[in-house]
Amino acid sequence: MARIARNHLIPALSILPTKSCLSANPSLFASRPHSTPVLGFRRCFSCPSRLSMSLKAGIVGLPNVGKSTLFNAVVENGKAQAANFPFCTIEPNVGIVAVPDPRLHVLSDLSKSQRAVPASIEFVDIAGLVKGASQGEGLGNKFLSHIREVDSILQVVRCFEDNDIVHVNGKVDPKSDIDVINLELIFSDLDQIQKRLEKLKKGKARDSQSKIKEDAEKSALEKIEQALMDGKPARSASLTDFENDAIKHLCLLTMKPVIYVANVAESELAEPANNPYVKEVMNLASELKSGLVTISAQVEAELTELPSEERTEYLKSLGVSESGLGNLIRATYGLLGLRTYFTSGEKETKAWTILAGMTAPQAAGVIHSDFEKGFIRAETVAYDDFVTAGSFAAAREKGVLRSEGKDYVVREGDVMLFRFNV
Ligand code: GDP
Repeated sequence: MARIARNHLIPALSILPTKSCLSANPSLFASRPHSTPVLGFRRCFSCPSRLSMSLKAGIVGLPNVGKSTLFNAVVENGKAQAANFPFCTIEPNVGIVAVPDPRLHVLSDLSKSQRAVPASIEFVDIAGLVKGASQGEGLGNKFLSHIREVDSILQVVRCFEDNDIVHVNGKVDPKSDIDVINLELIFSDLDQIQKRLEKLKKGKARDSQSKIKEDAEKSALEKIEQALMDGKPARSASLTDFENDAIKHLCLLTMKPVIYVANVAESELAEPANNPYVKEVMNLASELKSGLVTISAQVEAELTELPSEERTEYLKSLGVSESGLGNLIRATYGLLGLRTYFTSGEKETKAWTILAGMTAPQAAGVIHSDFEKGFIRAETVAYDDFVTAGSFAAAREKGVLRSEGKDYVVREGDVMLFRFNV
C-alpha cells in the first residue's frame, strides 16, 4: 500500500528553493546568475506546454507612450514593499510584484504564521516593438519572441497630450497605435501558422490518435488564418475545445489576452471617460474583447517617490482613492481567469495562483509536481469558514473541513492541506 505522508502544509519550501525563500532579501535573489535554477517552476498559464516561474504580463506599446515610466513605477513600488512582500528584479526589464489580497493577512494572523507570502505577477518591459517588427525592423523578432513567453499582454496606449514628447506618428492617435501593434502580432502569427500548415500537410502522424490531433490542429489553424487575414486576432476565431488544445503548443501571440492601459494626464485621472482618446480605446477594447485600465504612468512614478503617508493625500488631491497599479494587477489577474487558494500554518501563509477549473491535484502541482503525481486527497475549508472557526483543528471539529478527492475543483479562497505519497 502506498505510504501516506503526514499532512504537508507548505512542503515545497523545504524541497525546492523557491522565489519566496529569497523574498526577504531581494539583493540576494538579484545577485544570482539568471541561469541558476533557483525558482519553483510551475505551468505557464496561457501555454501549458511551457514551464513558467510565475504569471507573466508583458508591457508593450509604441515608443514614447509611457511604458518605461509605468514599468519603473511597478519596480519601485515592488521595492518599497520588499520588506513585506516578495520582490525581485531578475533582469533589468523584469519586475515581480505582489497581488494585493487582504485575506492573506487575516489567515496569517489566525495561524500565527512567521510570514505571509502573496501571489505574484512578473511584469516584463518589452520595449522596441515598432512598425515592421515582424519583418525584423527595430529589434524586431527578438521582441516578438519575448511576447511569446508572456501569459498576457498589457499594451500602453498614449492618451496624454504633451508637445514636448514626440509621438512616433506625429500625433496622439490611439486607434492607429493599437492597429500598428496588432498588425505586427498578426503578421508574426500568420508567418508561423503558414509554416506549420506546410509541415502538417506532409502528414507525419504515426497512429490514428496522432492523426486525429493533427487534423484538429489543421482545422484550427485554417480558421485562425482566415481571422488573421481579416485583420482579427487568433482569439476571435471560434474553435472547439479540442482544436484549442491542439494549437496551444504554438503559443500564438494574438491568442494571448490583452489589456489596454490608457495612459492619461494626471488632471484627467478622476474623470478619464471625458478624454476622447480614452473613449476610443474603450470602444476598441470592447470590439477586440480585451480589458481596459486607465492609469497615469506619471502619477504612478511620482507616487513611488512620496513617503507612504503622503500618497493617499496626493491621490485624494487628484480625485482618486487608490493608485492605478492595484487596478492593473487585479485586471491582469481577472482577465486570465485566475483563482487563489491558500495554504496556512505556523511557518507561513501563502496565496497560490491557479486557473479556474483546476482540480485539487493540479492545484497541488502548482506547489510541486510531486504533489500532483502522488496526490491522495485534499482537506479543504472555505476561507469564510476558516476565519469563523479560527484554525484547521477548529474547522475539523465544526465539520466544515472537508476531505476531497482528485476530481474536486478548487474554489476561490479555499484553504487547503494536501495528502500525498512521497
Ligand atoms: P516609452 O518609450 O513608452 O517607454 O516611454 P517613456 O516611459 O520613456 O515616456 C516617454 C516620455 O513621456 C517621458 O519623458 C515620460 O516622462 C513621459 N510620460 C510618460 N507618461 C506620461 C504621462 O502620463 N504624462 C506626461 N505628460 N508625460 C508622460
